[in-house]
Amino acid sequence: MIEVKDLVKRYGTHTALDHLTFTIEDGGIYGLLGPNGAGKSTTMNILTGYLCANEGTVTVNGHDILKDTEKAKAEIGYLPEMPPLYEDMTVREYLEFVCELKKINGAKIPDEIKRVSEKTGIADVEERLIRNLSKGYKQRVGIAQALIASPSIIILDEPTVGLDPLQIIEIRDLIRELKSEHTVILSSHILSEVSAVCDEILIISNGRLVAKDSAENLGRLSEGKHLLRLCVKGDRKQTEAVLADFDQIQECRMEEGSEGIRLELSLSEGKDIREDLFYRFADEHLPILEMSMEHASLEEVFIDLTKDEADNTENQDNTENEQEAAES
Ligand code: ADP
Ligand code: MG
Repeated sequence: MIEVKDLVKRYGTHTALDHLTFTIEDGGIYGLLGPNGAGKSTTMNILTGYLCANEGTVTVNGHDILKDTEKAKAEIGYLPEMPPLYEDMTVREYLEFVCELKKINGAKIPDEIKRVSEKTGIADVEERLIRNLSKGYKQRVGIAQALIASPSIIILDEPTVGLDPLQIIEIRDLIRELKSEHTVILSSHILSEVSAVCDEILIISNGRLVAKDSAENLGRLSEGKHLLRLCVKGDRKQTEAVLADFDQIQECRMEEGSEGIRLELSLSEGKDIREDLFYRFADEHLPILEMSMEHASLEEVFIDLTKDEADNTENQDNTENEQEAAES
């Protein structure tokens, strides 16, 4: 289990993480989702002890990353955004090197290399130089080194970036297999990527957590947001009277056109009111000429969530600029 509390990370005057708080339970695949620059790599570098936060705490299975660094680090296998692969080594030499770094008993190293190579499908390329491997295989080697010493948590920073579609499918399958023995945290700026493999999604924007939920529930969030468009032939007052009967209508925009009244209704989650609307308008002898429902996609929900944050920062930036201007 990882507990992240109130993390703040500043690079100079730029705040990359702004009081970020979340918890990762044992088991499952977690996705850190956010646009480029959101703070995903910074977060991962802090969780793995590669970077120090300015404020806040991280505990990994009860070990504080600052006070108990060695123990906390031993719980985690990490594939950074730029995998630290030594291109002039063979795959075996490199994995031996990582085994030594992780203090695996010398006699057990061959077995450990065999185990991680088989798991990641690189047993056939063990004697090849890393520089000669395809990007997909290099990524497998990167994952293999993270698996050495069987840490309980595996953290992968943008594990499929730069891969071709077939390699992406293979790496995704591999990540799904890791779930049986490890808690996996991966990052991505692509929504379809995290919804394809993750059980739980954490959306980060401008160093803040804007949503944390199952892929399923986030999907429901998008289903819940819908817009009903209608064109009704009739009188404005009568139309308003009909609409007043429906609690699910949160917002209503009305426009009188030549063929009738055009309505745009924002609906709350719950019952589909289209049939009831149809019969109510029919009772009033107000024919519905058109009716269509629009669902927001998960992509739109993501853009919505991260856009609000972007707007906020813009405003903040403006205030800062204004303050600076006032000071000078
Ligand atoms: P992500 O991985 O989500 O794309 P990062 O964590 O890499 O985001 O970066 C978060 C923000 O911090 C970005 O605005 C980035 O430009 C900035 N940043 C990251 N690393 C550094 C650094 N070493 N020095 C200065 N700014 C940095
Ligand atoms: Mg990154």
